[in-house]
Amino acid sequence: MATSESVSVRVRDVHLSFGSNRVLRGVDLDVPRGATACVIGPSGSGKSTLLRTVNRLIEPDRGDVLLDGRSVRGDDPDALRQRVGMVFQQFNLFPHLSVLRNVTLALRRVRRLGEDEAVAVARAQLELVGLAAKADARPAQLSGGQQQRVAIARALALQPQVMLFDEATSALDPELVKGVLALMADLSAQGMTMIVVTHEMGFAREVADTVAFMDRGVVLEAGEPARIFESAEHPRLRRFLSQVL
Ligand code: ADP
Ligand code: MG
Repeated sequence: MATSESVSVRVRDVHLSFGSNRVLRGVDLDVPRGATACVIGPSGSGKSTLLRTVNRLIEPDRGDVLLDGRSVRGDDPDALRQRVGMVFQQFNLFPHLSVLRNVTLALRRVRRLGEDEAVAVARAQLELVGLAAKADARPAQLSGGQQQRVAIARALALQPQVMLFDEATSALDPELVKGVLALMADLSAQGMTMIVVTHEMGFAREVADTVAFMDRGVVLEAGEPARIFESAEHPRLRRFLSQVL
Protein backbone atom coordinates (compact mmCIF):
# COMPACT_ATOMS: atom_id res chain seq x y z
CA MET A 1 0.00 0.00 0.00
CA ALA A 2 1.30 3.43 -0.91
CA THR A 3 2.41 4.93 2.35
CA SER A 4 5.77 6.46 1.53
CA GLU A 5 4.39 9.97 1.42
CA SER A 6 2.73 10.12 4.82
CA VAL A 7 2.66 13.54 6.45
CA SER A 8 2.38 14.73 10.04
CA VAL A 9 -0.92 16.16 11.28
CA ARG A 10 -1.20 18.95 13.82
CA VAL A 11 -4.50 20.14 15.14
CA ARG A 12 -4.04 23.49 16.84
CA ASP A 13 -6.62 25.06 19.15
CA VAL A 14 -9.56 24.15 16.93
CA HIS A 15 -12.90 25.63 17.93
CA LEU A 16 -16.23 24.91 16.31
CA SER A 17 -19.85 25.64 17.25
CA PHE A 18 -23.13 24.51 15.75
CA GLY A 19 -25.33 27.46 16.70
CA SER A 20 -24.96 27.84 20.45
CA ASN A 21 -23.58 24.29 20.83
CA ARG A 22 -19.82 24.61 21.36
CA VAL A 23 -18.76 21.24 20.02
CA LEU A 24 -15.00 21.78 19.79
CA ARG A 25 -13.52 24.05 22.44
CA GLY A 26 -9.83 24.26 21.66
CA VAL A 27 -8.69 20.85 20.42
CA ASP A 28 -4.97 20.11 20.15
CA LEU A 29 -3.63 16.88 18.69
CA ASP A 30 -0.20 15.98 17.30
CA VAL A 31 0.26 13.01 15.03
CA PRO A 32 3.84 12.62 13.79
CA ARG A 33 4.45 11.38 10.27
CA GLY A 34 3.65 7.66 10.07
CA ALA A 35 2.08 7.52 13.54
CA THR A 36 -1.35 6.30 14.53
CA ALA A 37 -3.46 8.28 16.98
CA CYS A 38 -6.57 6.69 18.45
CA VAL A 39 -9.26 9.07 19.65
CA ILE A 40 -11.53 7.69 22.34
CA GLY A 41 -14.27 9.30 24.40
CA PRO A 42 -17.98 9.37 25.12
CA SER A 43 -20.65 9.82 22.48
CA GLY A 44 -21.21 13.48 21.64
CA SER A 45 -17.75 14.59 22.79
CA GLY A 46 -16.88 15.89 19.30
CA LYS A 47 -14.78 13.04 17.86
CA SER A 48 -16.50 12.90 14.47
CA THR A 49 -16.57 16.66 14.22
CA LEU A 50 -12.83 16.77 14.91
CA LEU A 51 -12.14 14.33 12.06
CA ARG A 52 -14.33 16.39 9.77
CA THR A 53 -12.27 19.49 10.45
CA VAL A 54 -9.08 17.63 9.48
CA ASN A 55 -10.19 17.08 5.89
CA ARG A 56 -12.22 20.28 5.90
CA LEU A 57 -15.63 18.71 5.53
CA ILE A 58 -16.29 21.45 8.10
CA GLU A 59 -14.36 24.67 8.51
CA PRO A 60 -13.29 25.41 12.11
CA ASP A 61 -14.36 28.74 13.58
CA ARG A 62 -10.90 29.21 15.03
CA GLY A 63 -7.59 27.37 15.12
CA ASP A 64 -5.95 25.40 12.36
CA VAL A 65 -4.96 22.02 10.98
CA LEU A 66 -1.42 21.61 9.63
CA LEU A 67 -0.20 18.85 7.31
CA ASP A 68 3.59 18.63 7.40
CA GLY A 69 3.56 22.05 9.04
CA ARG A 70 1.47 23.71 6.38
CA SER A 71 -2.06 24.97 7.02
CA VAL A 72 -4.83 23.29 5.02
CA ARG A 73 -6.81 26.52 5.20
CA GLY A 74 -7.49 27.68 1.66
CA ASP A 75 -6.56 24.32 0.08
CA ASP A 76 -8.83 23.17 -2.71
CA PRO A 77 -11.33 20.84 -0.96
CA ASP A 78 -11.10 18.10 -3.62
CA ALA A 79 -7.30 18.12 -3.57
CA LEU A 80 -7.37 17.99 0.23
CA ARG A 81 -9.79 15.05 0.28
CA GLN A 82 -7.45 13.15 -2.00
CA ARG A 83 -4.60 13.76 0.46
CA VAL A 84 -6.72 12.91 3.49
CA GLY A 85 -8.77 9.74 3.05
CA MET A 86 -11.74 9.03 5.30
CA VAL A 87 -13.59 5.85 6.18
CA PHE A 88 -16.99 6.02 7.85
CA GLN A 89 -19.04 3.73 10.07
CA GLN A 90 -21.61 3.20 7.29
CA PHE A 91 -19.17 2.49 4.42
CA ASN A 92 -20.90 4.97 2.05
CA LEU A 93 -20.45 2.76 -1.01
CA PHE A 94 -22.60 3.38 -4.09
CA PRO A 95 -25.13 0.51 -3.98
CA HIS A 96 -25.88 0.51 -7.72
CA LEU A 97 -22.21 0.18 -8.75
CA SER A 98 -20.01 -2.90 -8.68
CA VAL A 99 -17.18 -3.12 -6.18
CA LEU A 100 -14.71 -2.39 -8.99
CA ARG A 101 -16.70 0.68 -10.15
CA ASN A 102 -16.87 1.99 -6.60
CA VAL A 103 -13.08 2.14 -6.64
CA THR A 104 -12.53 3.28 -10.24
CA LEU A 105 -15.03 6.13 -9.95
CA ALA A 106 -12.88 8.08 -7.53
CA LEU A 107 -9.73 7.22 -9.50
CA ARG A 108 -11.24 8.65 -12.69
CA ARG A 109 -12.80 11.71 -11.07
CA VAL A 110 -10.18 12.63 -8.54
CA ARG A 111 -6.92 11.25 -9.94
CA ARG A 112 -8.19 11.71 -13.51
CA LEU A 113 -6.93 8.31 -14.61
CA GLY A 114 -8.11 6.81 -17.89
CA GLU A 115 -10.38 3.78 -17.84
CA ASP A 116 -7.71 1.11 -18.30
CA GLU A 117 -5.35 2.53 -15.72
CA ALA A 118 -8.19 3.09 -13.22
CA VAL A 119 -9.25 -0.53 -13.57
CA ALA A 120 -5.68 -1.74 -13.12
CA VAL A 121 -5.12 0.38 -10.01
CA ALA A 122 -8.49 -0.61 -8.56
CA ARG A 123 -7.87 -4.34 -9.12
CA ALA A 124 -4.45 -4.07 -7.50
CA GLN A 125 -5.93 -2.26 -4.49
CA LEU A 126 -8.75 -4.78 -4.12
CA GLU A 127 -6.15 -7.53 -4.21
CA LEU A 128 -4.35 -5.87 -1.30
CA VAL A 129 -7.49 -5.91 0.85
CA GLY A 130 -8.21 -9.51 -0.16
CA LEU A 131 -11.24 -8.80 -2.33
CA ALA A 132 -10.02 -9.26 -5.90
CA ALA A 133 -12.56 -12.05 -6.38
CA LYS A 134 -15.44 -9.69 -5.50
CA ALA A 135 -14.68 -7.03 -8.10
CA ASP A 136 -17.89 -7.61 -10.05
CA ALA A 137 -20.21 -8.01 -7.07
CA ARG A 138 -22.57 -5.32 -5.83
CA PRO A 139 -21.98 -4.02 -2.29
CA ALA A 140 -25.20 -5.65 -1.04
CA GLN A 141 -23.78 -9.08 -1.97
CA LEU A 142 -20.85 -8.57 0.41
CA SER A 143 -20.66 -8.88 4.18
CA GLY A 144 -20.32 -5.67 6.16
CA GLY A 145 -16.67 -6.44 6.79
CA GLN A 146 -16.04 -6.90 3.07
CA GLN A 147 -17.91 -3.69 2.28
CA GLN A 148 -15.77 -1.81 4.76
CA ARG A 149 -12.61 -3.25 3.18
CA VAL A 150 -13.86 -1.98 -0.20
CA ALA A 151 -14.36 1.46 1.33
CA ILE A 152 -10.80 1.33 2.67
CA ALA A 153 -9.48 0.19 -0.74
CA ARG A 154 -11.35 3.05 -2.39
CA ALA A 155 -9.74 5.58 -0.06
CA LEU A 156 -6.26 4.04 -0.42
CA ALA A 157 -6.47 3.98 -4.21
CA LEU A 158 -6.25 7.77 -4.13
CA GLN A 159 -2.82 7.48 -2.46
CA PRO A 160 -3.69 9.56 0.60
CA GLN A 161 -1.04 10.99 2.92
CA VAL A 162 -3.30 10.62 5.96
CA MET A 163 -6.18 8.26 6.74
CA LEU A 164 -9.08 9.07 9.05
CA PHE A 165 -11.30 6.29 10.42
CA ASP A 166 -14.58 7.20 12.14
CA GLU A 167 -15.78 4.16 14.11
CA ALA A 168 -15.04 2.02 11.07
CA THR A 169 -16.02 -1.20 12.83
CA SER A 170 -18.99 -0.01 14.92
CA ALA A 171 -21.62 -1.12 12.39
CA LEU A 172 -20.13 -4.58 11.89
CA ASP A 173 -21.25 -7.88 13.30
CA PRO A 174 -18.76 -8.93 15.99
CA GLU A 175 -17.23 -11.75 13.91
CA LEU A 176 -16.43 -9.30 11.09
CA VAL A 177 -14.64 -6.72 13.22
CA LYS A 178 -11.32 -8.54 13.41
CA GLY A 179 -10.62 -8.59 9.67
CA VAL A 180 -11.15 -4.85 9.32
CA LEU A 181 -9.06 -4.06 12.39
CA ALA A 182 -6.29 -6.31 11.01
CA LEU A 183 -6.29 -4.34 7.77
CA MET A 184 -6.09 -1.08 9.72
CA ALA A 185 -3.25 -2.45 11.84
CA ASP A 186 -1.35 -3.43 8.65
CA LEU A 187 -1.78 0.04 7.27
CA SER A 188 -0.49 1.52 10.51
CA ALA A 189 2.51 -0.83 10.51
CA GLN A 190 3.32 0.22 6.95
CA GLY A 191 3.71 3.81 8.04
CA MET A 192 0.45 5.47 7.12
CA THR A 193 -0.37 8.48 9.31
CA MET A 194 -3.77 7.68 10.81
CA ILE A 195 -6.33 9.17 13.14
CA VAL A 196 -8.68 6.45 14.32
CA VAL A 197 -11.85 7.19 16.29
CA THR A 198 -12.70 3.90 17.93
CA HIS A 199 -14.36 2.08 20.78
CA GLU A 200 -12.00 -0.87 20.23
CA MET A 201 -9.76 -0.44 23.26
CA GLY A 202 -7.70 -3.51 22.33
CA PHE A 203 -6.84 -1.94 19.00
CA ALA A 204 -5.97 1.36 20.67
CA ARG A 205 -3.73 -0.35 23.16
CA GLU A 206 -1.90 -2.48 20.61
CA VAL A 207 -1.73 -0.29 17.52
CA ALA A 208 -1.83 3.36 18.60
CA ASP A 209 1.29 5.43 19.18
CA THR A 210 -0.90 7.96 20.97
CA VAL A 211 -4.31 7.67 22.59
CA ALA A 212 -6.26 10.91 22.97
CA PHE A 213 -9.30 11.08 25.24
CA MET A 214 -11.92 13.60 24.14
CA ASP A 215 -14.54 14.93 26.49
CA ARG A 216 -16.92 17.84 25.87
CA GLY A 217 -14.99 19.28 22.95
CA VAL A 218 -11.40 19.08 24.20
CA VAL A 219 -8.63 16.50 24.34
CA LEU A 220 -8.59 16.09 28.10
CA GLU A 221 -5.61 13.75 28.21
CA ALA A 222 -3.32 12.14 25.63
CA GLY A 223 -0.33 9.86 25.82
CA GLU A 224 1.14 6.49 25.02
CA PRO A 225 -1.41 3.68 25.28
CA ALA A 226 0.33 1.96 28.21
CA ARG A 227 0.18 5.13 30.29
CA ILE A 228 -3.37 6.01 29.31
CA PHE A 229 -4.71 2.54 30.04
CA GLU A 230 -2.67 1.84 33.15
CA SER A 231 -2.21 5.20 34.86
CA ALA A 232 -4.62 7.77 33.48
CA GLU A 233 -4.47 11.01 35.43
CA HIS A 234 -7.82 12.57 34.77
CA PRO A 235 -10.77 11.26 36.83
CA ARG A 236 -13.11 11.56 33.85
CA LEU A 237 -10.80 9.37 31.77
CA ARG A 238 -10.47 6.87 34.62
CA ARG A 239 -14.26 6.73 34.88
CA PHE A 240 -14.62 6.30 31.09
CA LEU A 241 -12.10 3.46 31.05
CA SER A 242 -13.73 1.72 33.99
CA GLN A 243 -16.97 1.66 31.97
CA VAL A 244 -15.52 0.42 28.68
CA LEU A 245 -12.78 -1.99 29.73
P1 ADP B 1 -18.99 12.08 18.68
O1 ADP B 1 -18.48 11.67 17.34
O2 ADP B 1 -17.91 12.18 19.72
O3 ADP B 1 -20.12 11.22 19.15
P2 ADP B 1 -19.96 14.40 17.27
O4 ADP B 1 -18.77 15.12 16.78
O5 ADP B 1 -20.72 13.58 16.28
O6 ADP B 1 -19.58 13.56 18.56
O7 ADP B 1 -21.00 15.43 17.87
C1 ADP B 1 -20.67 16.37 18.87
C2 ADP B 1 -21.83 17.31 19.06
O8 ADP B 1 -22.04 18.06 17.86
C3 ADP B 1 -23.16 16.64 19.36
O9 ADP B 1 -23.81 17.43 20.31
C4 ADP B 1 -23.87 16.68 18.03
O10 ADP B 1 -25.26 16.72 18.22
C5 ADP B 1 -23.37 17.98 17.43
N1 ADP B 1 -23.34 17.97 15.95
C6 ADP B 1 -22.57 17.17 15.20
N2 ADP B 1 -22.75 17.43 13.89
C7 ADP B 1 -23.65 18.41 13.82
C8 ADP B 1 -24.27 19.15 12.72
N3 ADP B 1 -23.95 18.89 11.45
N4 ADP B 1 -25.16 20.10 13.05
C9 ADP B 1 -25.48 20.37 14.34
N5 ADP B 1 -24.94 19.73 15.40
C10 ADP B 1 -24.06 18.76 15.15
MG1 MG C 1 -18.98 10.09 16.10
